[in-house]
Amino acid sequence: MIYLDHAATTPVAPEVFEAMAPYLQAEYGNPSSFYALARQARGAIQEVRERLAMYLGANPREIIFTGSGSEADNLAIKGLAWQMREKGRHIITTQIEHHAVLHSCRALEKQGFEVTYLQPDHFGVVTTEQVAEAMREDTILVTIMHSNNEVGTIEPISEIGQLCMERKVRLHTDAVQSMGKMPVKVEDLNVDLLAIAGHKFYAPKGVGALYVRRGVKLQPLIDGGAQEFHKRAGTENVAGIVALGKAVELLEQQGEEDVVRITRLRDKLVAGILERIPAVEPTGHPEQRVCNIASFCFKYIEGEGILLSLDMEDICVSSGSACTSASLDPSHVLLAMGFPHEIAHGSIRLSLGRWTTEAEIDRVLEVLPPAVERLREMSPLWADAVAKGEV
Ligand SMILES: *Cc1c(COP(=O)(O)O)cnc(C)c1O
Repeated sequence: MIYLDHAATTPVAPEVFEAMAPYLQAEYGNPSSFYALARQARGAIQEVRERLAMYLGANPREIIFTGSGSEADNLAIKGLAWQMREKGRHIITTQIEHHAVLHSCRALEKQGFEVTYLQPDHFGVVTTEQVAEAMREDTILVTIMHSNNEVGTIEPISEIGQLCMERKVRLHTDAVQSMGKMPVKVEDLNVDLLAIAGHKFYAPKGVGALYVRRGVKLQPLIDGGAQEFHKRAGTENVAGIVALGKAVELLEQQGEEDVVRITRLRDKLVAGILERIPAVEPTGHPEQRVCNIASFCFKYIEGEGILLSLDMEDICVSSGSACTSASLDPSHVLLAMGFPHEIAHGSIRLSLGRWTTEAEIDRVLEVLPPAVERLREMSPLWADAVAKGEV
C-alpha cells in the first residue's frame, strides 16, 4: 500500500506506540489521585506539558490538553467568545478554515455573535490589510489558520498577529497542519491561542492541545473537575498525552531532516504530474506552502474517479478534504479561492509523510497518468474540450 494522505491522519510512530503502551497497562493511575501510581501518571503528563511548551516557545501553564484538534479549536473560539461577550460580539475568520473553526463560528452566529468570513485570493492567501479593514470597535477575536489542510497555503499569521496586538484583539490560529512541517513558535507568530492535533504528526487520534497565552481567559466547554487548570474537565488521556509528547520529541530529533526529504519528494511528484498530464492546475500558493501537500485540479474529470482508480492500485489520496468528501459538493476552500464548480470537482490532494519513499512517488507517477487518461476518455467534458481545440 502507498499512503499519501498524511494531511488526513498519520500512522503512529513505533517509538510513540512503545512510549504510550505502559500507560494503557501497568501505569493506569488516575493523575488526580495521591499514591505513587498516580504520581507517576501526573509526572508523565507534566513532562509532556513542559516538552510541548518548550517546542512552542511557551510556558507549561499555557498548555491545555484536549481530546482532538477540533476540540482545541472549539475551546479557543467558543471559550473566548463566551468569556468576552460583554465586550463585543464580532469575530473575523476566513472562508477556507477547517470545519472545526467554520462550524464553531456558525454556532456562535446562532447565539448572537457576528462573523466576517474573509475571502482569500486565488492562492488561498488572506492579507493583513483585509483583517485591518474588517476590524470593528466590537471585534473580540480573529481566528485564521496557520496552514491550510486542503491546498497547503501558509497564511501571514505573524503579521496579522502584529496588527491584532496593536488593536488589542485576540488571535487564534489553527496550526494543526503545521506541526513538524516548519517551526511553530507562539512568540514569532504573535498569537494568543494555537491549536494542534497529535494524529497529524505520528501520535494517535483523540489527543490535541491548545496553547492559551497567560492572561487570556476562556470559558470551559466541559465542566467538572479541576483538570487542565480548570479549563478542560475530565480525567486526562494519559497514554495519548504521553504519545503526543514522544511525537514532539521525534520532531525535535528528526523534524528538520524529514522536511528536507519530504520537500524533495513533493517537488518531484508535482513536477512529474505537470510533465506527464495535460490540463492540470496546481492549487494553493506555489511557494508559501507546507512541505508535504501537493494539490491539483484535474480538469474535465471528477476527483472521486481519480481517488477510486488509485485505490484499486492500493494508493491512498484525498479528493477535497476528508470531512467534505462524504458529500458531493466541491471543496469550500477551492470555491472560496475562485475555482469554478466544474474545476473544483476535479481536485486531488496527495500528502507525504515520514516514511514516504522515492519508489512510492515513482509508482504514483506511473499509475496516475493512465488513470487520468482513462477517465478522460469516458468524459463528455473532455470530448467537448478536444473538439473545441481547448486541449
Ligand atoms: C485535522 C485537522 C483538524 C481537526 O483535528 P482532529 O484532531 O481531527 O479533530 C483541525 N484543523 C485542521 C487544519 C486539520 O487539518
